[in-house]
Amino acid sequence: MTTAMRIMPANPAASYQAHKAAIDAAIHRVLDSGWYILGEEVAAFEAEYAAWLGVSDVIGVANGTDALELALRAGGVGPGDAVFTVSNTAVATVAAIELVGARPVFVDVDEATFTLSPAGLAQAIHQVHSGRFPQLGRPKAIIAVHLYGHPAGMPAILDIARRHQLLVIEDCAQAHGAALNGRQVGSMGDIAAYSFYPTKNLGALGDGGAVATNNPELADNVRLLRQYGWRERYISLVPGLNSRLDPLQAAVLRVKLPYLAQDNRQRRAWAALYAETLAGAGVILPREAPGASHVYHQYVIRAPQRDALQRRLQAHGIGTQVLYPVPIHQQPAYAGRIPLVTPLPTTEALAHEILSLPIYPELTADEIRATAQLIRG
Ligand SMILES: *Cc1c(COP(=O)(O)O)cnc(C)c1O
Repeated sequence: MTTAMRIMPANPAASYQAHKAAIDAAIHRVLDSGWYILGEEVAAFEAEYAAWLGVSDVIGVANGTDALELALRAGGVGPGDAVFTVSNTAVATVAAIELVGARPVFVDVDEATFTLSPAGLAQAIHQVHSGRFPQLGRPKAIIAVHLYGHPAGMPAILDIARRHQLLVIEDCAQAHGAALNGRQVGSMGDIAAYSFYPTKNLGALGDGGAVATNNPELADNVRLLRQYGWRERYISLVPGLNSRLDPLQAAVLRVKLPYLAQDNRQRRAWAALYAETLAGAGVILPREAPGASHVYHQYVIRAPQRDALQRRLQAHGIGTQVLYPVPIHQQPAYAGRIPLVTPLPTTEALAHEILSLPIYPELTADEIRATAQLIRG
């Protein structure tokens, strides 16, 4: 290799550059409008994103963590409630559960998809019902995380939820546009949370988030909660908070939304090129479960000598990431404080082997081939 290569693990600046003129114009439209909180820009994005997802309601909020918190609150989750989720996720998933006063219960992940194991879920619910963990409270809700862009096994999860009358929240922060058996993620559970953090598949130029649902009552609750419990200005019907999507970010998202499907197709094409160029390279490649459409927010391989491989790629200018290096239940803020109702062997094993290779629409085939070549050694 003659020229030094430099590949970022993610590249939100490239996405801005790809749409610079339209984004600059949209931002100036908001600046000139004189309307800087909620208003038409946010309402228009909410309507456009609801149509894109095929749900009745989208409510724009300040970020993905708030989206999860508001979804939980809207569903009546609070102190005394146990919420089942995974430990291999963004800490935001677990932080939101504790923010509403509920207790997280960790469930192991499925080895093939890295997402919540339905068998593990049934086992964890059984353990909480057994009365051996009174401090965790009553089973109330499930947060299924569509991790890395791959949908969790929703049919089995929904089945278990129905049997135990649990609220199902989909954490779609990494899975805008992913689908399972032809159904979009975010439209299968009771309510869903999205993040528009700049590196997500649909990313703003700052913080942003949204709640999506087909349940008008839950939508109404979220709409009240995001702004002081107001339906009418200055009259709080319920104790709420301030978590509004910024109209500048809504305007940026309106520029990018029409390209989301095409961007996801490009991510899938790059994943296919990785699969072709990494075949037989001694690493385990990500796969799609039957009926699943993966949107490759992350392209996560498993490598037995992960740290050495990451260092070698870094030395050649190729940036990779580990999402996530330490499962939540082993992090200082949570370790020893949250009882495990079942062991989490797959979660713990994956943390030592997973590596996210660069993947975003603006990458080039040459960059992917060069990365694969280095991994082959
Ligand atoms: C990014 C992310 C969030 C949090 O979103 P923020 O907008 O950063 O608050 C929540 N869950 C998952 C799985 C995420 O990847």
